[in-house]
Amino acid sequence: MTASGAPGGVVIVGSGLGGYSLARELRKLAPATAITVITADGGESYSKPMLSAAFAQGKDLAGLVMKSAGQMEADLSLNVITRQKVTGIDRAAKLVSLGDGRSVPYGRLVLAIGADPRPYKAEGSDRVTIHTVNDLDDYAVWRDGLIPGGRVLLIGAGLIGSEFANDLTTGGQKVTVVDPAPWPLGRLLPQALGDEMAKALTGIGVTLHLGRSVARFEPGKAVLDDGTVVAFDKALSAIGLIPRLALAQAAGLAVDKGIVVDRCLRTSDPAIFALGDCAQTEAGPLPFVLPLMAQAKALAATLAGTDTPLKLPALPVVVKTPALAMAVCPPAPGTVGDWRVEGEGGDRKALFVDPDGKPLGFALSGSFAAERQALAKGMPDLL
Ligand SMILES: Cc1cc2nc3c(=O)[nH]c(=O)nc-3n(C[C@H](O)[C@H](O)[C@H](O)COP(=O)(O)OP(=O)(O)OC[C@H]3O[C@@H](n4cnc5c(N)ncnc54)[C@H](O)[C@@H]3O)c2cc1C
Repeated sequence: MTASGAPGGVVIVGSGLGGYSLARELRKLAPATAITVITADGGESYSKPMLSAAFAQGKDLAGLVMKSAGQMEADLSLNVITRQKVTGIDRAAKLVSLGDGRSVPYGRLVLAIGADPRPYKAEGSDRVTIHTVNDLDDYAVWRDGLIPGGRVLLIGAGLIGSEFANDLTTGGQKVTVVDPAPWPLGRLLPQALGDEMAKALTGIGVTLHLGRSVARFEPGKAVLDDGTVVAFDKALSAIGLIPRLALAQAAGLAVDKGIVVDRCLRTSDPAIFALGDCAQTEAGPLPFVLPLMAQAKALAATLAGTDTPLKLPALPVVVKTPALAMAVCPPAPGTVGDWRVEGEGGDRKALFVDPDGKPLGFALSGSFAAERQALAKGMPDLL
């Protein structure tokens, strides 16, 4: 059975910021092209970064949805197929198969299928519920179960974990964070700024157990590797994401840390493209909104007929921790260099410089955070 779709049209798998940004950009350039979006979720348009900043604002699911799938269809002249997982790609026949047995033909196929939260495993973790929040459905389940003033165990003090800690605490939850790193955002910040973030989070009421892991779970409590017992009502893990590769892998596309794409975001099959959290560009995986928007623009132009290589300047990320304003522009993974830090207290400017003194990245806190755009101009392009 064939579902609607056009043999020459563009089929986008995924309705996150990647899929819908591409649909929006492509519709501007190609008013007549048939565009079908197939998504495993409800197809609502929303801003994923709000998931770690919405609780303190009292936003429930309805407050996060910007447009329904039906409104997206009408606004952008799309065909949106919701709650359907693409289960296979027949590259020879140019068809994708859906979970309900139907298939959809494509002329060009775009994978914007995102990433899965990395599961947290420790002794007993299979006997407790450890939530992850990576989409609207997760958020609804997580938020509905929170009790006023409840005790939250948060595993992970990276960028997203720190944001959740700030948001949930401001919203009245009693948050305890556990992370093996010695300071929050350990992979993005030098110690001086990480220590200030730790102070700021502690200052609003977050309890931090840094340099520690959960050794085992028992019902309603976690026992840390130093013997500390943390009782909790709800547990949330934010320890990173793993790009979704299985679909591409099964179709024989090249994959590595993500679905491998060239400068035009083409996979190893010239009719199949990828962008967003699932893709590995020549600059590596770039799981943030600004690179994704640049990818959507470049890919739309390519799909509209002009091969357009992705260009990426350095793109700083604002950390949504009102307890301490923070912006980071990390150097490429594996880059050799040192942090040079100036400023005092919460107001710090850290430049990551190579052995010749050339700045390759930065982290800014407090009053320095406002300098992020100006400073980014002096950083090397990502692509
Ligand atoms: C809590 C949180 C806060 C964040 N905050 C920031 C921030 O402040 N700044 C920033 O730059 N970035 C932030 N990010 C990262 C940013 O939000 C992501 O990089 C971006 O939203 C990823 O979009 P995407 O479209 O690639 O993936 P997703 O939004 O994950 O979308 C994937 C889509 O694919 C669909 N799908 C998956 N598999 C299939 C299948 N087989 N068949 C059909 N459909 C499928 C899913 O249903 C979904 O619609 C944050 C991320 C999180 C989780």
